[in-house]
Amino acid sequence: MRLDDRIAVVTGGGSGIGRATCAVLAGYGARVVVADIDEDAGRATVEQLRETGHEAVFSACDVTRPETVDRVFSAALQRFEKVNACVNCAGILTHTPLEETSDLDWQSVLHVNLTGAFHVTRAALSAMRRSGGGAIVHLASRMALRVKEGHGAYAASKAGVVQLASMAALEGAPHNIRVNCICPGFVDTPMNRKAYGEEAFAGWSAVCPLKRVGRPEEVAQVIAFLLSDLASYVTGAVLPVDGGRTLL
Ligand code: NAP
Repeated sequence: MRLDDRIAVVTGGGSGIGRATCAVLAGYGARVVVADIDEDAGRATVEQLRETGHEAVFSACDVTRPETVDRVFSAALQRFEKVNACVNCAGILTHTPLEETSDLDWQSVLHVNLTGAFHVTRAALSAMRRSGGGAIVHLASRMALRVKEGHGAYAASKAGVVQLASMAALEGAPHNIRVNCICPGFVDTPMNRKAYGEEAFAGWSAVCPLKRVGRPEEVAQVIAFLLSDLASYVTGAVLPVDGGRTLL
């Protein structure tokens, strides 16, 4: 699999699945625009890529602020003359029962995960139309498909991402733009370590048919496939990447 002609914007590229995705895409030959709200983390990803001989740039981005998202894509178009791949990894997690969820928590999760995904989709569709086509991958979650107590706002935001991606697939198809959505299960990333602590990993492994949590690279490889020509007839797909957890 090669991605040599791909210019890829990766939101949330400073950490976890996003950072692993940047490395995997670059390894297949893509040039990568690392977009993140955390400037130090995003620049660290760029450094890692450059140290291994890959071309990458950092672009500051808060997906809740459409003007920053538009700026990422216009700067990428200016520098590389096209944008034909986009991975939307920016996201936040809360885990509180609905009765204890404040309006502020609800709004911020929906704002980052769903409204942010909309801002990224809108900018990516526009940039890809100007680039002759492309492919977008959204990070939803297993919790878009199955729920777990105490994750109401997060699950609702990710279910919204699935429908947003489906609509974008429909609207993008006439313009040679494919849009797919992946639903990871429990992956070993800073997000999960911060939210649950490493002690939760054993419990998650026990309820997963493959008996372990996922690695960010394992998700990133699926993303790379969906962006590649090997997936040229795949659009509107909603794909669990969860070690079989959604079976149960
Ligand atoms: P992560 O390690 O926390 O990385 C997410 C990155 O996005 C961080 O650098 C974060 O910066 C950044 N970010 C947060 N808000 C942003 C904003 N408004 N604009 C731009 N960037 C922003 O998370 P992850 O575990 O890799 O998750 C990546 C995606 O996969 C998320 O959408 C998540 O919901 C989804 N997902 C993850 C899992 C899992 O098990 N890890 C499972 C299912 C789905 P800060 O660190 O400053 O917040």
